[in-house]
Amino acid sequence: MKPFSYVRPADARAAIASAGAEGASFLAGGTTLIDLMRLEVMSPTAVVDLGRLPLTAIERHGDGLRIGAMALNSSVATHQLVVERYPLLAQALLAGASQQVRNMATVGGNLLQRTRCPYFRDLAVACNKRAPGTGCAALDGYTRSHAILGTSASCIATHPSDMCVALAALDAVVHTRNGARERTIPIGELHTLPGDHPEIETTLQQGELITHVELPASPFAAHSRYVKVRDRAAFAFALAAAAVGLDLADGRIRAARVALGGVATRPWRSAEAEQALVGQPPSRATFERAAAAALVDPKPRRDNAFKVGLAKRTIVRALELAGGVS
Ligand code: SF4
Repeated sequence: MKPFSYVRPADARAAIASAGAEGASFLAGGTTLIDLMRLEVMSPTAVVDLGRLPLTAIERHGDGLRIGAMALNSSVATHQLVVERYPLLAQALLAGASQQVRNMATVGGNLLQRTRCPYFRDLAVACNKRAPGTGCAALDGYTRSHAILGTSASCIATHPSDMCVALAALDAVVHTRNGARERTIPIGELHTLPGDHPEIETTLQQGELITHVELPASPFAAHSRYVKVRDRAAFAFALAAAAVGLDLADGRIRAARVALGGVATRPWRSAEAEQALVGQPPSRATFERAAAAALVDPKPRRDNAFKVGLAKRTIVRALELAGGVS
């Protein structure tokens, strides 16, 4: 690990001031950053530990919910309001990592979780995300875990978060602060596509602190589901995942949400799938049409072509479970 300075400020203002310098990094739960520092994949010159900030509350906010950025994943997953009103989020969190990791990982850190592309973590090979302009070893490598949606000629890494997929389906809004400036970022505008600059992963600025996440009231609680397909039952990243919600009335789908994980370079909300569902009866035929719509123009590579069919089947299964159709 390379040398770095360390501070543990008591308030957000001091944390933002400390993290404003180029090369500084916030430390939330540490479940990503510390690993990557040990590997020297990330070498921040300054680490700003957010552990003392009072950002852990999970509370009602109007008709919705407000979750502090330093709330632990395990606390959110078991909070009564989340379980009752946003079961999709609880399911996604419990599908991620292990209980030990969830006891450390925070909502803010999870939002900024970095890819598990094995080449990103291997200093011996080229990686545009780790070292811009060096190339991408994955393009000619083993691509079973890589993305088929949102890829570019520079990077095909999959976004790793389960939580973010649920937040995408729930229309979450991320609140940030940078100096005196506060702003709100719809979750769909937080993560960027890799394009020519895969090293840029979000629309956040240097030193911009995520303070909390807001969830609007959801009509999907009774009919929602997170389905994750992976190689083993625990502590494995998704090969394909689907977060879905249905608002049902009079035997029809009044509104729908479909978001995908494990197959795209960022949490992937599918407006096409949602449009295919609205106004239709909740049936297997409807769900299959929606799944087909979600996977328009995928870009599979040699080892991950199976993800096209797997993602469709995952969407259909999630919709069947959400809609009570089997
Ligand atoms: Fe790096 Fe992205 Fe290529 Fe993986 S896919 S090696 S993260 S540039």
